[in-house]
Amino acid sequence: MRLTTRIKKSKQMIRLVRPLELTPNDLIYPIFIREDGKKFEIPSMEGQMYYSLKDCDKVCNEVIELGIPAVMIFGLLKKKNADGSVALQKNAFHTKIFKKLKKAFGDNLVLISNVCLCDYTLSESCVYMEKGKVLNEKTAKMLGKIAVVHAEAGADVVAPAAMADGQIKHMRSALDEAGFEDVPIMSYIKTDSCLFGPFFKAVSTSKTPRKGIDPSKFRADIINQKMFMAKVDLDISEGADIIIVKPALTNLDLILLTKQRYPNISIAAYQVSGEYSMIKIPGKSGHLDEYTLLMETLNSIKRAGADMILTYYALDVAKLLKEKT
Ligand SMILES: [Zn+2]
Repeated sequence: MRLTTRIKKSKQMIRLVRPLELTPNDLIYPIFIREDGKKFEIPSMEGQMYYSLKDCDKVCNEVIELGIPAVMIFGLLKKKNADGSVALQKNAFHTKIFKKLKKAFGDNLVLISNVCLCDYTLSESCVYMEKGKVLNEKTAKMLGKIAVVHAEAGADVVAPAAMADGQIKHMRSALDEAGFEDVPIMSYIKTDSCLFGPFFKAVSTSKTPRKGIDPSKFRADIINQKMFMAKVDLDISEGADIIIVKPALTNLDLILLTKQRYPNISIAAYQVSGEYSMIKIPGKSGHLDEYTLLMETLNSIKRAGADMILTYYALDVAKLLKEKT
């Protein structure tokens, strides 16, 4: 009865005993920037926009005004190539983005770079493969090179997304050798999920996205905690500064386990595109209350142990939290 009836006698008492609270400081807003300059609503992610290089600073201004400290950048190229080497070309699109935003905002906004081969390869595979096998070393080395290019252009944090073994080690040494010892690595650890679907539709340039690519080769099994935690152990031993658990809602146990095993490592949770749709669509149809459900999910992610949350709802949440205070 201690924390129940006596405490619950008033709303103010309930607020007083809350051990944690979601604030805009916890949020990261993922944004999509198109090289072809077209700006429109993302069809698979209602309410989210594609931005152009020209106007991406406007949304970043809004992010800063709302008290959100960071953005995750996804650049959508006009032209990819077979091995993804387009990423390393002089004046590559991503470098233009980071240069522009760093110049505009300096240290007022943390620029996180999503580093993955699928942004650059025609096959849209996150890893190099040969005869059905993942080429970890080759993938990791390329990711290290891309990370250096992004850091040189102004990225504050790099987030390798390929799940290749050794990618953190290679990225760390590539960054250090290039003089970017102060650039942290946020490592994505993903479980296999259909919840990535709307995102793939949003970033894919091909009409048949990711055909023939078996994601289970480079993601953790959804019902295997040991497999996930082994990847966490590996990435932290290789030098990851922050772990991103992705998706969030289906992996609350994995967020909690990671937090318990590594209390001194920061954990991010990515509320992915499918989770966004799971709230947006019934919210729009009136089957559920959109913002109540949103806050329930975000609070559960926070309660599980996430220090920060990547969410397409970041702007809405920051506004809601502002209205409350
Ligand atoms: Zn990828």
